[in-house]
Amino acid sequence: MSLIVQKYGGSSVADAESIKRVAKRIVETRKAGNEVVVAVSAMGDTTDELLDLAHEVAPIPAPREMDMLLSAGERISMALLALAIESLGHDARSFTGSQAGMITDAKHGSARIVDVTPVRLREALDEGAIVIVAGFQGFNRDTRDITTLGRGGSDTTAVALAAALDADICEIYTDVDGIFTADPRVVPKASKIDRITSEEMLELAANGAKVLYIRAVEYARRHGVTLHVRSSFNNNEGTIVYNPSETVDAATLVARARATSNTNTKTGSESAVEEPLIAGVATDLSEAKITVVGVPDIPGKAAQIFTLVAKTGANIDMIVQNVSAASTGRTDISFTLPKSEGQTVLTALRADQAEVGFLGLQYDDQIGKLALVGAGMRTNAGVSAKLFTALFEAGINIEMISTSEIRISVVTRADTINDALRVVHTAFGLDADDVAVVHGGTGR
Ligand code: ASP
Ligand code: MG
Repeated sequence: MSLIVQKYGGSSVADAESIKRVAKRIVETRKAGNEVVVAVSAMGDTTDELLDLAHEVAPIPAPREMDMLLSAGERISMALLALAIESLGHDARSFTGSQAGMITDAKHGSARIVDVTPVRLREALDEGAIVIVAGFQGFNRDTRDITTLGRGGSDTTAVALAAALDADICEIYTDVDGIFTADPRVVPKASKIDRITSEEMLELAANGAKVLYIRAVEYARRHGVTLHVRSSFNNNEGTIVYNPSETVDAATLVARARATSNTNTKTGSESAVEEPLIAGVATDLSEAKITVVGVPDIPGKAAQIFTLVAKTGANIDMIVQNVSAASTGRTDISFTLPKSEGQTVLTALRADQAEVGFLGLQYDDQIGKLALVGAGMRTNAGVSAKLFTALFEAGINIEMISTSEIRISVVTRADTINDALRVVHTAFGLDADDVAVVHGGTGR
């Protein structure tokens, strides 16, 4: 018997009809002889609506009460889903995060899972029940309060359950057919990725791909959970996200994911897993660039600047330092960070300008970032040349460049980022023959 964890996002359980459809799917999985644990998100836009309501009654809502409020969304969907399954004649039991043993730290609004003790879930499974767990929520032992895991946290709930229960597969159901080589709303010819390593997925998620949340991918990678991201609107095989280890090779993981997944697999799909050069391209418009102008070119200045930045808690991304002009003995340092943190960091730097001794600050929130990701880069030369050539031919100027072993990122003007995405996608041969189908609206 296999144990399958399934996660259904808000768009898959948006109304009564959808809940009944999902209930049928879950029952089919059970009937095929599997144990089934389901993590479910709040219906449709419930979480956003609750957030809006909170801000109407309180300008700065208290974090503890906010988590009480937001966790209610998943309570509604979990109970409705259990009711729908029961009415199909199957035993189903819903559990809140704390009942399911999701133990987190105490950080309201973005709590981290520190332990999972799914005793009650195991008991319910042993009694033959289908288990439904409220996504996105947990419990802190010290404060004895309910916590939430941050937006999109149900993915993390599902992965954590899969790890704790030693599931064979964690299926993430969404409203698109899987993970694409680029956002299909911008690149209609984006191709569905059949399989991708968790390392590559992590880079795509960290650089703006929104299908999977970064924390969930991190958790899956660390605990060796294989994910299958697929549509809840059809039976097609989606994207398998795997972490090849020393003990289990990629082909075995992919075959195992397929065996448990009850899909329409394309005929003749090859069994050998060969790494493509490029996995995908992601873009991000949520960042801004700060340039610290005229920094004295002596040891310790970068340390001073980034200590100030670190104190604000801001998450900085790319850093570039120019060569100093010999005549002035000064240099410029630029870095990118989320726009939401821009003003705080500017204020912190300005406060210590005299002490650090730089000449000025520039703030630019009209940048776009493009990241090309692929494990094949490790062993292939010429990837950067091809990327820069594609951008040059489209007349797009590159403002910053940074690389990791499996990623090349560039910053361009925000208004050229979609063109950049399309030309790079084409240049690396990622265009599909057909136009991708986008079922729902949000990709969640
Ligand atoms: N309902 C929560 C949100 O909308 C969690 C989730 O959907 O995963 O962010
Ligand atoms: Mg949601």
